[in-house]
Amino acid sequence: MMDKLLSIVLPSYNEERNISKATERIGRILREENIPYELIFVDDGSKDHTWLEIERASERDPHVVGVHFSRNFGKESAIFAGLSNAVGACTAVMDCDLQHPPETLIEMYRLWEQGYEVIEGVKRSRGEESALHRMSAGLFYRIISSAVKIDMSRASDFKLMDKKAVDALLELPERNAFFRALSAWIGYRTTSVEFDVREREEGESKWSTWSLIKYAVTDIVAFSSAPMQLVTIAGVFMLFFGFCLGIQTLFRYFTGHAVEGFTTVILLILLIGSMIMISLGIIGYYISRIYEEVKGRPKYLISKKVGSTRGE
Ligand code: UDP
Ligand code: MG
Repeated sequence: MMDKLLSIVLPSYNEERNISKATERIGRILREENIPYELIFVDDGSKDHTWLEIERASERDPHVVGVHFSRNFGKESAIFAGLSNAVGACTAVMDCDLQHPPETLIEMYRLWEQGYEVIEGVKRSRGEESALHRMSAGLFYRIISSAVKIDMSRASDFKLMDKKAVDALLELPERNAFFRALSAWIGYRTTSVEFDVREREEGESKWSTWSLIKYAVTDIVAFSSAPMQLVTIAGVFMLFFGFCLGIQTLFRYFTGHAVEGFTTVILLILLIGSMIMISLGIIGYYISRIYEEVKGRPKYLISKKVGSTRGE
């Protein structure tokens, strides 16, 4: 049975009301389809009773495995912890708030059986969002798409991957891993299935505007050095500007009108000063990311585990 086993990774942060629901709903569908499975809930340092719910679910249902983080490490870390604890021949990642429909999972599994190694869940619709949110998400995905060279505008974290692809992902040494883009970066025989994002039934989304901005900046920096090249482009632009202004200044000097132009000096100091500071900031941000990577701290720390489907 192990060679058909489907592991499902469910990152969970403050999802006490979704654990048993997800266990039942996903379990029912997979049993109907006769697919052997395990559910790996990764409790990302929840502040509510999520872990208690996972323990209970695992007592009731031997398919449930739980991993508990020592604190909140973020969804990306939770995904990677789940992947490295999965024993299946293929592993799926989905949200435990049931926004990713379990029916699509079946479709993905069938495609895996046909020999596909990475099956990406693609959003048919983006669900309810404000105009501002849609615009900034659009900008973010344009930058990321050009960095990965694959259209990411409808990408999601809902995927199913063959063990080979999972192992390839786990071998990547970087700390700051952006799962959504890395799964495309590794290549392999890839296909996609469309799904409709469902409304969240219980609890609320964990994303504030600020955390989304932080997430976007981190991921862009993790995948692209384009912002640093902006510094060079700005420099070239300033050089050109300086050249023109230099000619004008010299011309004035030789025609005897050199005292004027104090406004220009002030404006130039302000402009150049702010550009240098922004540039240093961008470079500094990359250095801080390099510093994070060099420190080599683990992506996450596991404090507790429950259940095991190993050797069944
Ligand atoms: N999540 C997590 N750690 C976090 C934030 C979220 O593991 O720090 C999980 C959360 O429990 C859910 C999934 O990531 O299963 C998606 O989160 P959410 O529903 O809040 O995001 P949205 O669906 O609104 O994008
Ligand atoms: Mg959600």
